[in-house]
Amino acid sequence: MDTDVQANLSSVLARIGQAAGRSRRDPAAIRLVAVTKTVSEDVILEAVQAGVDCIAENYVQDARKKKERIGSRVQWHLIGHLQKNKAKQAIGLFDVIETVDDEFLAVALERFSGETGKVLDVLVQVNLSRESSKSGAPPENVLPLMERICGLRSLRCVGLMTLPPYFEDAERTRPYFSALRKLRDELVEKGIPGPCLRELSMGMSSDFDVAIEEGATIVRVGTALFGARKTA
Ligand SMILES: *Cc1c(COP(=O)(O)O)cnc(C)c1O
Repeated sequence: MDTDVQANLSSVLARIGQAAGRSRRDPAAIRLVAVTKTVSEDVILEAVQAGVDCIAENYVQDARKKKERIGSRVQWHLIGHLQKNKAKQAIGLFDVIETVDDEFLAVALERFSGETGKVLDVLVQVNLSRESSKSGAPPENVLPLMERICGLRSLRCVGLMTLPPYFEDAERTRPYFSALRKLRDELVEKGIPGPCLRELSMGMSSDFDVAIEEGATIVRVGTALFGARKTA
């Protein structure tokens, strides 16, 4: 059956509005990023026509293929783990890299970003659950990593990202979302400039309402827009 992307987008935006209302936040301060892994270019274009203006992909090679068709009318985010040897390609494709989690990757990105003369927006991915299967910097590494990135000219740190373990009950992800917000507040207290910590990227289809209540400014939503992934 065809997925009605336009109808799904309306209900996602309604959920964002309701969650913002519950937490007395301005819904305009919450950015919806459409996660398009496994989604065809035709369907992505449908979403763009319906108003999606920000797209996230997990892999450099998938983004390259899709960007040929979709182009730069939308903002492109990388939300999958990035290997250093793909840094140069990633720089050419993405407007925002949400998954910087160590110094070596940051320095590789700095080098290639510098060569293009642009400044790349990055988020530091934090591994709050400490699952070894997950990428992301352990919380205690985030301060030195951010200090390092702040000293680089061609990267602009704009915030933190996290991917909690999956729970059937979305309420169980709440502690991870509030932990990311608390980490943000601690980093500000320790002297990281506020603008480097403006964004909190957290929440997916099953739990973005809870993430918004805990302060998310970017929600990454795939399934609720495009239906279940066949390869899940
Ligand atoms: C796939 C993915 C999402 C979106 O997940 P859904 O449950 O389909 O909304 C969000 N963030 C990351 C990092 C992902 O890999």
